[in-house]
Amino acid sequence: MTKPLFEQIALVTGASRGIGYATALALAKAGAHVVAVARTVGGLEELDDAIQAVGGTATLVPLDLEDFDGITRLAMVLDDRYGKLDVLVANAGQLGPVSPLAHVETKEFETLMKVNVTANLQLLRCFDPLLRKASAGRVVVVSSGAAHAGRAYRGPYAISKAALEVMARTYAAETVTTPVRVNICNPGPTRTKMRAQLMPGEDPQTVQPPEDAAEAILSLCLPSFQETGRLFDLRAGRLLHYNPPD
Ligand code: NDP
Repeated sequence: MTKPLFEQIALVTGASRGIGYATALALAKAGAHVVAVARTVGGLEELDDAIQAVGGTATLVPLDLEDFDGITRLAMVLDDRYGKLDVLVANAGQLGPVSPLAHVETKEFETLMKVNVTANLQLLRCFDPLLRKASAGRVVVVSSGAAHAGRAYRGPYAISKAALEVMARTYAAETVTTPVRVNICNPGPTRTKMRAQLMPGEDPQTVQPPEDAAEAILSLCLPSFQETGRLFDLRAGRLLHYNPPD
C-alpha cells in the first residue's frame, strides 16, 4: 500500500530530541523524506539511524534557528533540490526564564522571542513559496496551553507561544484560498527535556511519551486533513478543537 506521505518533503525543526524527533520519525514512517533541523548533531544522527532502520530517508541540517540567513539558505537549497515543501512542522522551542516577569532580563526575553517567534516568521517567509508549490502544503505549529493561561512565572514562554499562535492563524487566513493548510497543536504535557526542566520533581512516567504527540501532529500533516487556522489540544490521546476568540 502506498504510504500517505510518499514522495513528500517534510521539514521538522527541533528534530534532535523530544517531540520533534518523534514527529520526524513518524513522518518518515509515513513515507516522507525528512529534513531534520536542530543544533545538536548527535541527536540528528541518532534520528537518522532510527529513520534508516524503518526504511526512511532524511537530510540532516545542523542549524541554529537564530541564524536567519541560514534559514534563507536552507530554503534556497530545498527549492533547488525539490522545488517544493509539502510539510513544515515548526516545533523547535525553548522554555526561557521561569521567573516573575519583573525579574526577567530583557536580553533573555529577546533570545526567547527570537527562537520561539521570529525564527518561525523567517521560516514562513522563506518557505511560503515552496509550500505554495506543493500540491497539499501543510504547516503545523507546535504551541502550548501556556499561550492561553497567564500563569505566574511562565510569562516569557507564554507570551512567545501566544504570539506564535496569532502568527499561525494570520498565515492560515492569508493562505486560505490556496491548498496550504496551517494548524496549531498543543501537545499537552509530554515526557521531554523541556518538561523535565519545567517540572523537575515530576515522575516522567506520569506524562505521555513524545510518540503520542507525534502521532497527533502527523495527523495534521496529511494531505487529507483539510481544516486550516485551527488550534488543537491533545488530551488523553484525542485531538480536540480549542477555539480562541476571533
Ligand atoms: P525539547 O527541549 O526536548 O526539544 C526542543 C527542540 O528544539 C530540540 O530539538 C532543540 O534542538 C530545538 N531547539 C531549541 N532551540 C533551538 C535553536 N536555537 N535552533 C534550533 N533548534 C532549537 O522540547 P520538547 O520536545 O518538549 O518541545 C517541542 C515543542 O513542544 C516546543 O515548541 C515546546 O514549547 C512544545 N511543547 C512541549 C510540551 C511538553 O510538555 N514537552 C508541552 C507543550 C508544548 P537543539 O537543542 O539540538 O538545537
